[in-house]
Amino acid sequence: MTLLAATPEELSRLATDNGFPAFRGRQLFGWLHKRAETDPAAMTNLPIAFRDLVACAGPVVPANVGVTLRSADGTRKLEIALGDGARVETVLIPEGPRLTQCVSTQVGCAVGCAFCRSGRAGLKRNLTAAEIVAQVHVARALYDPGESLRNVVFMGVGEPLHNLQGTLRALEILEHPDGLDLSSRRVTVSTVGIPRGIARLGEATRGEAALAVSLHAADDATRAALVPGAGASLAEIVEAIAAYPLPKHRRCTIEYILIKSVNDRDADARRLVRLLASIKVKINLLPLNPHDSTKLEPPEDGRVASFQQVLLDKGLSAFIRRRRGEDINAACGQLLAAESR
Ligand code: SAH
Ligand code: SF4
Repeated sequence: MTLLAATPEELSRLATDNGFPAFRGRQLFGWLHKRAETDPAAMTNLPIAFRDLVACAGPVVPANVGVTLRSADGTRKLEIALGDGARVETVLIPEGPRLTQCVSTQVGCAVGCAFCRSGRAGLKRNLTAAEIVAQVHVARALYDPGESLRNVVFMGVGEPLHNLQGTLRALEILEHPDGLDLSSRRVTVSTVGIPRGIARLGEATRGEAALAVSLHAADDATRAALVPGAGASLAEIVEAIAAYPLPKHRRCTIEYILIKSVNDRDADARRLVRLLASIKVKINLLPLNPHDSTKLEPPEDGRVASFQQVLLDKGLSAFIRRRRGEDINAACGQLLAAESR
């Protein structure tokens, strides 16, 4: 295991196995995650022999930043080069001084949604937990003065629940109180809706992980056309959401990309209301980001507003989400898999 994905307990074991007291391992975890120090030589309160051990364990961060692009609205996109030459992307989105970071979980994606660039070339491989955590690490160098990381969304390239092991471990590390200490409610896993994966995420995090489900359709035929590799019916997905053990007063988020003449009619909105009648949700409506690998288009603004109104009239919380970083292709769904360049 790479150091960046190791828990304090595992680092303590590394220490004791090599004749150092266990607390050295916990100190190392603090250096790595609280202080973002990755150079063993700079870990000044650790004995030199322990720093040597850390240095011998291999590169601490298994990723480098390649190209970085900055949008007029402050959004930053970072291309991340992994050890085997694969590339993924991560995006920093500012809201005042608070940053939301969108991280990738796979190189490519097997689901192949009709509107998404990331899945165009299929799946190449899962990211390791260390490669997921590394995205957060390397992006720290791009914070502006006064900015701090507030939210992490697993909404970059890949389907997190197809990489459950990497995702769960990354959540554990990012939320650890001795490290970055991100609040679990501020770390969102976005999935296309894999019932068994949702159940396992719920068990492993006791429902603490914030859950977003990308539905994009209210009937199975439209869903199959838009999200071909999902493998579960809408009814099964809704059942999995209902069973997810979210703490009281927290709701699952439903992501719904609005696509002109495909899923944007008032009748679709009414169907969505019926589909979601048994669960407590918040709905994010995202007008499609047009790009050159899809012919699909966003609806006119009036259509978007009308769709939202149907949901609001039925008492659902529904928000229209602005696109960010469009000028640098950084908005969600604009992230490219390396192979498709
Ligand atoms: N695979 C997971 C994780 C995020 S995928 C999932 O599908 O939920 C990338 C995100 O970008 C998803 O939320 C998807 O809905 C959104 N997205 C992809 N292509 C898009 C497009 N052309 N316009 C708007 N959003 C898009
Ligand atoms: Fe994969 Fe998500 Fe893109 Fe669909 S939207 S292809 S699930 S990354």
